[in-house]
Amino acid sequence: MISFKNYILFLLSLFIASCKVVNPKVDKPSANENVMALTKSLPKETNTTPSDTSFVSLKAFSSDFVYDMKYATTANFLKQAVYDCPECYLRYKTVKSLIEANNEFMTKGYKIKLFDCYRPLSIQKKMWQIVSNPIYVADPNKGSIHNRGCAIDITLVNSNGEELDMGTPFDFFGEESSHNYKNLSEDIKRNRAFLKEVMLKHNFKSFDSEWWHYNLVDGNLEKLANFNWDCN
Ligand SMILES: [Zn+2]
Repeated sequence: MISFKNYILFLLSLFIASCKVVNPKVDKPSANENVMALTKSLPKETNTTPSDTSFVSLKAFSSDFVYDMKYATTANFLKQAVYDCPECYLRYKTVKSLIEANNEFMTKGYKIKLFDCYRPLSIQKKMWQIVSNPIYVADPNKGSIHNRGCAIDITLVNSNGEELDMGTPFDFFGEESSHNYKNLSEDIKRNRAFLKEVMLKHNFKSFDSEWWHYNLVDGNLEKLANFNWDCN
């Protein structure tokens, strides 16, 4: 039979054992695993920083934009698809400013939706043949800032993906599309002003006759381009 003394010693040993600090086994990732995780989370193209003026695909640098590339569909004023696939290429410096602007919109519950980005000069010529009016289409002899990779056509969507009411559709060729047109509801004026305010804060300039068009500041200094992106 166990003595009282042994019984006390037995209880004491149990108590000591239970007080032992046991470190939970945590598997720390090795240095290599950390590098791999980081590489996975970054798009391939960002492993080396492009130069400010090189053309890059916006998708490679952010997944936070909504795309509705109108000229890759027949739903545009040309009534024909002039791009082989819906891509958004821009000079890298345009991409950086655009991401900054989108980040600010996202803190307020909105996102940028893109209708057009870089546009090859050959497409500009086609547009000019259809609408030879410099108020709405840039003369290809001068070129658009779109042809320089420094302009975008955009609107805003809310958290449900619904476009904010800007008063006219994209590419509506009428005075109602102008920033100077005042016969609009307070909601529409507020939506246009919101888009403009944030874009101007992030190095863009608005374009009087089109509420959807924004140029990067000094984007007019870049060269016209005519490359076509790879759709494969
Ligand atoms: Zn435009």
